Amino acid sequence: MWQQTFRVPNLSTSSNIIHRLSKIFQPKHVIPVNAQIKNKEITSKSQRLMLELGIIRQASPGSFHFLPLGLRALEKLIRLVDLEMSRIGAQKVMFPTLTNAKLWESTGRLDDIGPELFRLKDRHQHTYILSPTHEEAAAELLASISQISYKDLPLRLYQTTSKYRDEMKPRFGLMRGRQFMMKDLYTFDTDLETAQETYNEVCESYDNIFKKIGINFVKALGTCGAMGGSLSHEYHYRTDIGEDQLLRCLDCGYSANVQHSGNEKCGNCGNSNNLQINRGIEVGHTFLLGDKYSKPLKAFFLTQENKPNVLQMGSYGLGLSRIIAAAVEVLSSEHEIRWPRILAPYTVVIIPPKEGSKEEPHTLQIPEKLYSLLESAHPLEDNVVLDDRKHMTIGKRLLDARRVGYPYIIVIGTRAKEDPPIFELNDIEENKQLFLNESDLLIYLNNKLK
Ligand SMILES: [Zn+2]
Repeated sequence: MWQQTFRVPNLSTSSNIIHRLSKIFQPKHVIPVNAQIKNKEITSKSQRLMLELGIIRQASPGSFHFLPLGLRALEKLIRLVDLEMSRIGAQKVMFPTLTNAKLWESTGRLDDIGPELFRLKDRHQHTYILSPTHEEAAAELLASISQISYKDLPLRLYQTTSKYRDEMKPRFGLMRGRQFMMKDLYTFDTDLETAQETYNEVCESYDNIFKKIGINFVKALGTCGAMGGSLSHEYHYRTDIGEDQLLRCLDCGYSANVQHSGNEKCGNCGNSNNLQINRGIEVGHTFLLGDKYSKPLKAFFLTQENKPNVLQMGSYGLGLSRIIAAAVEVLSSEHEIRWPRILAPYTVVIIPPKEGSKEEPHTLQIPEKLYSLLESAHPLEDNVVLDDRKHMTIGKRLLDARRVGYPYIIVIGTRAKEDPPIFELNDIEENKQLFLNESDLLIYLNNKLK
């Protein structure tokens, strides 16, 4: 009954519109070095760079505005996740942010998670929580439907929404906030064996997502903790500000979270010498839950014999806003943001000559023509921005483009007066500068982005 077709929509609505930097809301915010030391709220490089360059803006401790460039990066990540989720037949839904506290009472988590939950009362004195996760809500949804048959399973439902946690000490910007974006998937199977198959399939899908983002990640065996269940894995990025310690066995490749396992020995092969400890930040987590939530909330299905049986669940999270911040943290220098290429707010920026320069009169038609040409190339559709702040020198705009981290910067400089015009392409990832005519430029970018 839920077998509707699922199509990934093309979110691009701007095919005839030129993205112009002069029109993009990107309030820069210079944070003097002294102030950074005094300002205890700035606790990571990625947070500082994203604030300075107008990617995000702090609203209150642990909660942030996503400004246009930051939101573009986040939306790109969501599209990437949507595509992978559709490949495993997961359907996108949206659970309400408010969850009745009674549901959390019945699974025992109201007390387990305790002070980290945001609680509120409505005018009738009913208690609700601002959900940090939705296992209860998902199980309750299934419990409320009486006619689910084994034929409707497996069922996989996910959402990409804001989650809430009353952090004692919000820090590292988007990495440990009180409001954050998560993708959370809940799966329902008839028995543990098929739930395990689902688990493996989702893990493979997560591997694909992290491979596409392109940053080295560690997949470690986790413990189930307050979430419960029988099997869990954590996905981490390695970074010095990471709050988890990951043990890696160099003999067999096994990884585990030291805080949880408390072990100085490989949990797989027993080796205790050839071990490495790295700091990591958790960016994804998978849980095989079994009936921990479905049983108390009475989420049942009807078997082939028409008998009610408890659903076997899995829960799978990706910290979307955290992935963005952690990626920036891992890739950036102290002064320049670097994005995973697939998540950069725009892939290409075009910098035309300064107003009143000797190049300007010879190149008036070129920037918009080049813009349209690049946008028409499939991988660059909706991914080019024109830096039309022509009151600024080329040098200043080039510096700015490097700081914001566009992967490819095209300068329309002196050689654009030649026939045919020659453009300066700065390939930031490869740290290369090339001089190319229009068609070679297109070939180069197409090759890079295919
Ligand atoms: Zn080992």
